[in-house]
Amino acid sequence: MILSFDYGDVRYFRMARTVFGRAIYWTGVYLVDGLLVDSGPPNLARDVRQLVGELAVRQCVTTHHHEDHSGNHGLLATELRITPLAHASALPRLADADTQFQLYRRVAWGRRPPAPAAPLGDRLETTHFRFQVIHTPGHATDHVALFEPKRGWLFSGDLYLAPRLRYLRADEDVYAMMDSLRRVLALEPRVLFCQHRGRVEQGTARLRDKLVFLVELGGRIHELHGRGWSDAAVARALPGSDLLWRLWTGGDFSKRNFVRAFLRNPNAR
Ligand SMILES: [Zn+2]
Repeated sequence: MILSFDYGDVRYFRMARTVFGRAIYWTGVYLVDGLLVDSGPPNLARDVRQLVGELAVRQCVTTHHHEDHSGNHGLLATELRITPLAHASALPRLADADTQFQLYRRVAWGRRPPAPAAPLGDRLETTHFRFQVIHTPGHATDHVALFEPKRGWLFSGDLYLAPRLRYLRADEDVYAMMDSLRRVLALEPRVLFCQHRGRVEQGTARLRDKLVFLVELGGRIHELHGRGWSDAAVARALPGSDLLWRLWTGGDFSKRNFVRAFLRNPNAR
């Protein structure tokens, strides 16, 4: 299923695999001035092929290697003769077969076929806009965001997602994530374009909300850990329930991962 949103110069295509008419996990791609930001999950290849056939796509950037963002790069190469751009550190992963098997990822997004990509520079130009490429590791080591200074746009990939996260992926680096948030906050973006949420107004305030939340959460985790609490007890004391996500992802998304990530480097910041 693909839903289309028109934000003027920016279009958003929200997409998800559906089972009995219900979306399993929403993600999305943007089109701005011929630039496609991400290419969607591999199990939606048929829909994406039709979509890009109707759009004037001239370039593509992938924000990071996760298959819900990079899943149709091969298709862009064969259908449109476009080689997607990605952070240099993502290229070996994208060119390799996806050997990681996690059931929820296969069900929600499918398996990404290997496809070549080309390295991003510091800037990226379209006909009417000039984007700064900002390396923003944390959610993934090869994560980038795109900033357009005149419009104050930040294409934030999976850097934002939500102001208050309820769980963390096992492979996320929370300290790098906070540094990346500080880096993009310094740019004072006005509008966020989140791959999973669509357009988010008051970008700087929302990103600051997320950073403050993480700083406070880290403080709380260190405090409870300092009192001798076990990781499991600390995780239980954190706000909200992660039960459904923990079960659905086999533990890949959990509050416990927050505890592990913050305690990985207890002296940091
Ligand atoms: Zn991701």
